[in-house]
Amino acid sequence: MKAVLASNNKHKLVEIKTMLEGKFDDILTLKDLNIQVEIEENGITFEQNAYIKASEIAKMTGLPAIGDDSGICVNALDGEPNIYSARYAGEPCDDKKNNEKLLNKIHALEKDGQVDRTAYFQSVVVLCYPDGKYISGSGRTYGKIIDEYRGDNGFGYDPLFLSDELGKTFGEATMEEKNKISHRSRALADLLSKM
Ligand code: IMP
Repeated sequence: MKAVLASNNKHKLVEIKTMLEGKFDDILTLKDLNIQVEIEENGITFEQNAYIKASEIAKMTGLPAIGDDSGICVNALDGEPNIYSARYAGEPCDDKKNNEKLLNKIHALEKDGQVDRTAYFQSVVVLCYPDGKYISGSGRTYGKIIDEYRGDNGFGYDPLFLSDELGKTFGEATMEEKNKISHRSRALADLLSKM
């Protein structure tokens, strides 16, 4: 059976495709199917947003669809930016502005004392069938937010996220290193264990 990925993010596509390849005859992208949609992510949790994307595309294509939602949660900011990670500094989404906003918020808090810079990335992956049935997987990876931008790899908050497990930022890590311990690969492994 074929499946379709309900995402246009190139970084995610490669990672998800590689991990789920053996489970389906083929994994198509929205581009492969000539589908251009803006799905409104109006859920209030990662799970809801991943399901909204997957179910919409499953209905639209008649194929099992994989949706994911992810973000970074910073403890000093009570878990912000959470599900709003992509559009933290407003729309259109801008990684550089998001990173600047995150650092500004931390620096503002630091005026009143020491700040807890620990953070984690969270990912939820949902595989939804055209009849609405679904399974989901979730994963986290832990680290802390540093002040300087380190490394040019990856995307989003990667250059500011110093991984506990790698001892370097996700911006400095190779794709292979990051994929081994990433929130998304853990969410996919969790999903696979339920398939
Ligand atoms: P989504 O496309 O709605 O899941 O938004 C995810 C957002 O969370 C991205 O735009 C990034 O800002 C952030 N994010 C999620 N995963 C990662 C990652 O692996 N590295 C860096 N930032 C990430």
